[in-house]
Amino acid sequence: MRKAILALFILVSTLTFAQKKKGAASIDDIIRPEEIEAHLSFLAADEMRGRNAGSPEIEIAANYIRANFKIYGLKPVPGASNYFQRVDQLKLSPATFGEASIGDKKFLLKESLLVIDGDSLSWSGDFIYVGYGSDEDLKKYDLKGKMVLALAGAKNADQLNKVFNASSAKLKSVRDAGAQGLVEILALPQAPWPTLVNYLSGTSWTIRRPDKVIPHVWVKPGDLASLSLQENTTVKGSLSMSGKKKIEVPGKNVVGMIEGSDAKLKDQYIVITAHYDHIGVGKSKDGQDSIFNGARDNAVGATALMQTAKYLKLNPPKRSVILIALTSEEKGLLGSKWYTENPLIPLNKTVLSINCDGVGYNDKSIITSISWGRTSSDPLVTKAAKAYGLGVGGDPDPKEGFFERSDQVSFASKGVVAIKLQPGLARMDDEIRKYYHRQADEVSTLDFDYLTKFYKTFVTAVQLLANEPGKYSWNAGDKYEEVSKKLYGQ
Ligand SMILES: [Zn+2]
Repeated sequence: MRKAILALFILVSTLTFAQKKKGAASIDDIIRPEEIEAHLSFLAADEMRGRNAGSPEIEIAANYIRANFKIYGLKPVPGASNYFQRVDQLKLSPATFGEASIGDKKFLLKESLLVIDGDSLSWSGDFIYVGYGSDEDLKKYDLKGKMVLALAGAKNADQLNKVFNASSAKLKSVRDAGAQGLVEILALPQAPWPTLVNYLSGTSWTIRRPDKVIPHVWVKPGDLASLSLQENTTVKGSLSMSGKKKIEVPGKNVVGMIEGSDAKLKDQYIVITAHYDHIGVGKSKDGQDSIFNGARDNAVGATALMQTAKYLKLNPPKRSVILIALTSEEKGLLGSKWYTENPLIPLNKTVLSINCDGVGYNDKSIITSISWGRTSSDPLVTKAAKAYGLGVGGDPDPKEGFFERSDQVSFASKGVVAIKLQPGLARMDDEIRKYYHRQADEVSTLDFDYLTKFYKTFVTAVQLLANEPGKYSWNAGDKYEEVSKKLYGQ
């Protein structure tokens, strides 16, 4: 009798357990508003003091994400055996001296010259003028031993961040061609010189670079026009400057993985990223505290990683998925630059990367894909959104350069098919500006019902994209199409 009762008890409890287990795999049970609120409230608490790079609090955030990766059952990735990938970061204090002459024209630090990068230097010799110095132009000229003089950025770079991106690519080509350095003439009406001086005379950050650092300087056009420079001609001159003082501030990317369930596809990887740093503490303003909590930017994204970890562990997709909480996005995309320079999984096996980074939301009927219309991943993103009654909006204002301003660009510029998903951003308006990089970006102002829908959409999109056996690609004609084909060997 006792045995029979025991057997019955075991049978009943097994059934209950089996039912529970089955129930636990439903997305409504996995993605819950209470848990979302708990993660966001931890990461964006006042006590976290804005998760600034180099602060004790960003270490706490990294530990918290790591703990949750472990709880949700992610495996460590070789090269980050304790879930941390060390990121070698440098904090650079501005140059204190800089002087140049080009022909008979003189330039002085701050007044008409800005040191963007470089060590101490005292140089004189030939400047070679290259116009904008596109890659094709640079190949035509003999730059060896010369100082390259160029117009800043590229022909179509009409915004400062685009100028920066074009300039740093140019700097690399110039260095590879054996030139001494790069002096660029900056004439951008949207960026008045005093604003630039202000912006570029503070502390800056970079990752430790394996290559030689050559001087990179911007000068004001001033009366250079009177030299009537011709492409591929030289002019005598000099450049002296003090180097930037470097302080090492190591950071951490938090990395975990879910192994794919398909014998063939598990050797292909989808990389999901979101930065977990923010901008720290500033001045108190309008009766608010001084802490930039960074709830939307980007505790929301870090929480997307944790929700994805939890959901996919219970519903393993065919491809393997790597989840990376990136450090120091706010200091110049440092975590993603470091990862893509030092990938833990070869980039040519990374078939797709998905970044989640939000400036806030003002349309709860959609999710936003900043890369909408540019890759073959769109239909599955639409399918995921539809399942939760949402539409998909594209980049609301390409002039803002949203794609270039967050971590996905580090992957895209290496050729990886890279998309960016975030809560619904219909336009840049006061509803967004009220919170974006403001002290007011607090958890108490978030809508958890909408965010729950967003996270369900996000994890479903990841699941669909990780299960779909076809190849992902940049659409024909996209600026990343060529480098991507090279990466994947097509
Ligand atoms: Zn962000």
